[in-house]
This record gives sequence, C-alpha cells and structure tokens, in this order.
Amino acid sequence: MASLQLNHIYKVYPNGVKAVNDFTMDIADKEFIVFVGPSGCGKSTTLRMIAGLEEITAGELRIGDNVVNDVEPKDRDIAMVFQNYALYPHMTVYENMAFGLKLRKMPKEEIDARVKEAAKILGITEYLDRKPKAMSGGQRQRVALGRAIVREPKVFLLDEPLSNLDAKLRTAMRSEISKLHHKLQTTFIYVTHDQVEAMTMGTRIVVMKDGFIQQIDSPRNLYNYPCNKFVAGFIGTPQMNFFEGTLTKKGEKVTVALDNTSVSLSAPASIFNKANPDYLDGSKKVIIGLRAEHISVDPALYPYKAKCRVSHTEELGTDCQVYADFNTESEDMVSESPTRVIVKAPAGSFYEVDQVIEVSLDLSHIHVFDAETEDTIAPRIPAQITVDGKVKSGKLTMLGTTIQLPPAIQVADGAYGVVIPTAAIGLNGTIPAEVVAEEKVNTDRLIHLNVGGKVLFALANADEKIGKTANVAIDLKQISLCAEGAVVASALNCVNSLAGKISKHKIVVEKEVKGKMKKVNDLAFTLDVANATFDCSRTLALRLVNGGGQDIFNKALEFKFSPYDVTLAEQGVEATVESVVDYGAETFAVCKVGDAVINVSVPKDFAEQSVKLALDVDKLAIIETARAIRLA
Ligand code: ADP
Repeated sequence: MASLQLNHIYKVYPNGVKAVNDFTMDIADKEFIVFVGPSGCGKSTTLRMIAGLEEITAGELRIGDNVVNDVEPKDRDIAMVFQNYALYPHMTVYENMAFGLKLRKMPKEEIDARVKEAAKILGITEYLDRKPKAMSGGQRQRVALGRAIVREPKVFLLDEPLSNLDAKLRTAMRSEISKLHHKLQTTFIYVTHDQVEAMTMGTRIVVMKDGFIQQIDSPRNLYNYPCNKFVAGFIGTPQMNFFEGTLTKKGEKVTVALDNTSVSLSAPASIFNKANPDYLDGSKKVIIGLRAEHISVDPALYPYKAKCRVSHTEELGTDCQVYADFNTESEDMVSESPTRVIVKAPAGSFYEVDQVIEVSLDLSHIHVFDAETEDTIAPRIPAQITVDGKVKSGKLTMLGTTIQLPPAIQVADGAYGVVIPTAAIGLNGTIPAEVVAEEKVNTDRLIHLNVGGKVLFALANADEKIGKTANVAIDLKQISLCAEGAVVASALNCVNSLAGKISKHKIVVEKEVKGKMKKVNDLAFTLDVANATFDCSRTLALRLVNGGGQDIFNKALEFKFSPYDVTLAEQGVEATVESVVDYGAETFAVCKVGDAVINVSVPKDFAEQSVKLALDVDKLAIIETARAIRLA
C-alpha cells in the first residue's frame, strides 16, 4: 500500500523529444488512476518513470515517504504488467509466476503459498501446470497479472494490458481488473488510449495530450466539466458536437447563436454565471459543445428548439444515432460539415434522408470554449469575475459598497470594469454577502455568493464554518481596473523572475583522512542571480545537474520567486527602487534589477532608494530557460 507524489516531472529523451512536461499530481493509497490520451502523448513514458525503467529528467518522484528518483526498479516495491505479457514459453504457468520470487531467494513454501493464492484470485488454479502456448490470450494476461500479484507490491503499474485482446475479452478483463483492484486494496496506475476503459475503471483519470496533463478528475467530472475542447471531445461516445458561434448577453438573457445556421436560442443568463464576461458580448468567436444525449428528437422535451436536416441514422439497438445538419440548406451532408450534429434518438427511430426535423436542446449541459485556446470559458473554479465599479475621489463603489482605494491604486474619477480574481476573494472581510450555495470542486470548497446582486465565487478553507451570510474581503493588490477594454490599473505581479546561472568553484577543505586532518580538493556551488551570488547547497546543485545535465553550468537559468521570498539584506542582489506601492495592509517596493522589475514586500515605513535583496534559495523555482524545464 502506498501513496505517490509526482512533483514537476519532466522527460526529455536524448534525441530532444520532450515527452512529459511538468507532470504534477498526488496519488492517494488504493486509488485506481488511469493515464489516458492518444498515442504519443507521454502516458507510457510517465508510467515507465514511475517504474524506474526510464530516467526522470527533472522533478521529484515519491513513493510513500521516500524520494525514489535514484532507486532501482527492483527496490521500488512496484510491479508492472505489460501489453505483451512477456511470459517465458518454456515454463509452466506456476513457474512463470514463481520465477521472480525465486530470483529473490524467497523460501519455497512462501513462493508456493503466494502462487496458489494469486492463482485462486485470478481463477487460473487449474492451469498452473500448463505452458503459456496452450492458453488463450485472456488466460495469458491473467498469468502476467499473477506474476505481478505474487510480488505483493505497493503499487501496480499496468501498461495497456488489454490491448492485445479481442473486444469481448477486453470488456470481461476490464471488470476482472476492477475486481482485482478491489480485492488487493492496492494503488493501481493503468495506461490506456481507450477512453471507455479509462472511464469504466479509473477512480481518477489523467487526460494527457502532447506531453501535457490536460485534466485530472473523476470520470463523472471529466464528462460533466471538461476543461477544454480536447477533453470534451475525447471523453464520451459519440464525440461531443462542436459548433462555432457567439454568445450575446442582454439583461438576464444570453442568445446562443450557431454560425451558418438559423439556430439562435435565448437562454437564462444564469447558465453562464461562471463564464468569463469577455465572451458574452457577441464579439468573440466561441466553440459551443453539446453532447448527442443532450439533444432530443422530442421537440417538447427541452425549451430550446432548433431545426436540422437528417443525413442518415445508425441503429445501435439500445438507441439510434441520428446524423443531421443544423444548416438545413447545407449542400454537403456527408463530409465533416461544421454544422453537423449527432442526436441520440430512441431505438427504432426512423427518418427519411433530407427530412427536416425539429429537435430540442438541453442547454443546461452546454459547453463553451475559446475558439483559439480551446479552453472552457467557464472553469468550475472561475479564474476571475468582472464587476462594474465607479471611482470618485479615491473611493471605489462596487458590489453595493464603497471602499477607500489605497494609495497604490490611483485612477481618475469614472466608471471601470473591476477584475477580481477568485483567489483575491476572502470570507473574513466587511462586504456583506448572502451565501447562495456551496459546491465541492474536488478537494476545494467553492462558495457561491450574492454580493449586491452580483454572483461572486470564493474558496473556503476545509474547516471554515459557512453560514447563510458572509462578509467578503477583497485583496486589492490582486484586482485590476479596466476602462474601454484597456487596463488602467493592473494587479501587483506576484511572480518575480531574474536570470542567472549556477557556478561551481574549486575549494580546499580540511578533512579527516585515516585519522589525520588533511587538506583536500572539493567543489562548492553558487547561484549567480542577476548581480549577486548565493550559496547553493550540494543537494540543490545535484538536482540541477541531474535535470540539466553536466553542462548545466553553461546554461541560462531563470529564478522565480514571490515578493515574500526575498528580504532586504546587507548583501545580495543590488536593485534601485522605482517606487513604493502602498496597499494599506501591505507595502511593496518596485525594484529594478538591470532590465527586470521585481516586487518586494517591505515594511510600511520603507523609504530607501537602493537596496540589496537576499533570496530564499530553497523557495526558488529554477527553470532551465532554453528547454523550459523546471529543475527545482
Ligand atoms: P504514449 O504512451 O502516450 O503512446 P510515449 O510515452 O510512448 O507515448 O511517447 C511519448 C513521446 O516520446 C512520443 O513522441 C514518442 O515518440 C517519444 N518517445 C518515446 N520513447 C522514446 C525514446 N526511447 N526515445 C525518443 N523518443 C521517445
């Protein structure tokens, strides 16, 4: 039994292929995690790094409490099952299962007990004397599983174990593996390119594309709340319907219009509560997604109706998929028309080719994505909301309250859009709010608030008591003010970045050698950040060398840190103070280091013109600039 932690893991193959980028996730004990994505997205590479079969370029892998980056595969307490079962043909099933344990010099009786127990779990007791060639594919795969089970590993890794089996057997083995997970009560990590396998087996699924994690979520959440068009299209059969279109908000209604069709639906604005308002003025192209099962051939089922022209139907027995086009005038009905739509109809439905039918749409399940980035415009935890505000004589009126703006935010009197990040909203302030709902978003508690008639979202701590009302606090350093589409006062940048490198230095140290103190050569390391030098521990240096290679000392690095991880000191990075920004509760010095501008948290009475800054070396995020790899 074990938990796993993957922290900023990267894999760059020697040929330069960046197979895995910044893979970060915690896996709890006994979870069944599935890595899923199209071929080449980096699933197997990630699994092989966990197994120890592939070196980790950068990042940290923990199994249980131990960092195992440099631990041999055999000492990691994991067992891996491969797609090609790799059984020894000349050995019996029993011998195949016992082989690994024999190598480990386990006593015969113990081996016997384990093999028999595993055979019982897998239902292959009667085949123990057979050779693999006298067995079916499914049975062989069971032996491969058995060989992993007898090792009683803390973690099972399975790399597409069912892809060599035919469809029927695959479905059967799928539930066998789920049952096995239940019986063994161990952590499973399973790789597949098949979304159905992922959805049916995983407690949580990691969807990957091009070496990047797209979303980590439960099967249900992936289906209901895909974070981008890729995930939306990857999960679910048939694939979600996508249309280009626009959203236009007027009062409490939003018009959903699909391009090149006459489909234009007026929906309550509440459906788009979480949507970024930039997308609701009709000027930005969006991609609208709706699944076949959320469109009905019964025009009376949902209040939103549209016409489409049928091209053909597919009878599936359980239901019937109607292929149609929302552009009823479309000439090309067969190929991938951008207005094509698949509708799930009851089994036995029949339509003539070219028949125009009326369908109804369940807009409560609408998904909307940015046409360029393809990210959802309404994340489950909204990144920010924009509210109307008015500034008069240094006071900001918004959300039904008036607050004194701190000296750091100075704008002319007038009307502004105030952009408030969700992270800036706290529940320990003074702005009265009504608690409308609480939503659990994975491990987060998202509180829906009504503040002066506007819906706001805040994250609550796990143990925070939330009543029917709350008092909202807004961290003013995180807000920005916009007028006519331009930012007039921007939020404080809290991610500082300075360029530099790591250096090694030959030093002589006194060491005890064979009972005598002797002078010996050694190496010391420094981080050279901008114009200053900081001691770098051997552990950190090793980490940078491991990730960046032996020539790390010639490579450009980027050091990132927050305004709180840098302090005024006697020695350090020399900077000139450009300005001091006063947010009332907090003060920051805006400092110039060469061409870089960094923000530093300073005491209220701070008035220096030039400073020296010490960095908290252990809190730096260190990035190898050329390959964009986070090394620490
Ligand atoms: P998946 O398991 O999702 O199909 P992989 O992890 O096998 O993907 O591969 C991810 C990427 O890394 C692909 O572009 C693949 O070509 C590349 N790759 C895999 N193994 C190697 C290797 N040994 N050397 C170089 N590139 C590799």
